[in-house]
Amino acid sequence: MKGRIFEYLEKYSFRKVVLCHNADVGLKAVIAIHSTDLGPACGGLRMWTYETEEDAIMDALRLGRGMTYKYAAAGVNLGGGKAVIIGDPKTQKTEALIRAMGRFIQSLNGEYRTGEDVGTTLDDMEVLYQETEHVITLPEYCGGAGNIGPATALGVQQAMKACAQEVWGSDSLKGRTIALQGLGAVGWPALEGLVKEGARVTVADIDEAKVERARRELAVKEVPPAVIHAQPCDIYGPYALGAVINDSTISELRCRIVCGSANNQLAEERHGTILQERGVLYAPDYIANAGGTIFDTDRMQKGGFNRERAWRNVARIRDRMTELIAMSKREKVPTWLAADRLAEQRLQMARHLRMI
Ligand code: NAD
Repeated sequence: MKGRIFEYLEKYSFRKVVLCHNADVGLKAVIAIHSTDLGPACGGLRMWTYETEEDAIMDALRLGRGMTYKYAAAGVNLGGGKAVIIGDPKTQKTEALIRAMGRFIQSLNGEYRTGEDVGTTLDDMEVLYQETEHVITLPEYCGGAGNIGPATALGVQQAMKACAQEVWGSDSLKGRTIALQGLGAVGWPALEGLVKEGARVTVADIDEAKVERARRELAVKEVPPAVIHAQPCDIYGPYALGAVINDSTISELRCRIVCGSANNQLAEERHGTILQERGVLYAPDYIANAGGTIFDTDRMQKGGFNRERAWRNVARIRDRMTELIAMSKREKVPTWLAADRLAEQRLQMARHLRMI
């Protein structure tokens, strides 16, 4: 018998996968725990409709493994995991459903900790928190860090500066042309930060109200969403969707750097290699967009949440990006692979320490 799930678990050494089911509230969910080498597995709770149950499990597995690498490379002492509720967040999300999910998370006794993700909100986290203490993303009045979009935006801007230093010999973004895709929780503060630094930004969003606000308040130019990636510019910043670097977009790029907050920007890893071959410097998404995570998890460090330390650690993304560019050149590998190696080095270190 051949199936892709157990093959994937074995290939990437998963710790465990939990299937959650509660017929009374219509809950069907998956919790994937990839690694706890650096600390408890952590990753957001997604709610989404999937074609098949297998697709949902595979999504949780891929995302959970991605979290392990993200935390390891970002220097955060957490392992990787992810939870997925199968269903339409617009029509099927109820308090009972979220609470039931919270009970499953609680039953893992802290081996998995969660936060918001696609299809879930900070309000949902508050509901979840009624049933489990293992929620990281919470409003400030519940002891959390609140909105993490600005921290993510700042981290990306620092990664851009490291890339600019490499490409133009100066980290200043003043006068640089930037094509910014997506004006959401991260894209908007990113736009504000870049405009403040004197960059010349062109924006696109499918939400016309956000574009109108950007035009009105920050006097930036706009282009239709379908062509933002193809703008002649210094930096293309994906702040909306994943898989924006793919077979059809890659030959249309007119930039020297790709750096943004969107998760999984490369449709496939080979697209990161093609970028390098074309002389485009790619800031690996999980390095550039770790700011929110670093900020969010600061309260798990010694002494509890410290705003100053949290911002300082977010700004360190720049050093990490610089380190990664150096590694990529030294080892003659594309930046996406250098990022994976950086993460693997930290994981190896943690495993080694456990053995001695
Ligand atoms: P969001 O939902 O607040 O914003 C996304 C924005 O993109 C929206 O304004 C939406 O209208 C726009 N958009 C959607 N499709 C588009 C398209 N085809 N063209 C142009 N714009 C489009 O999400 P967010 O929290 O800002 O996150 C943005 C990206 O960054 C996501 O990929 C997310 O996974 C990633 N990310 C976010 C955080 C965080 O702190 N929120 C942290 C790490 C990574």
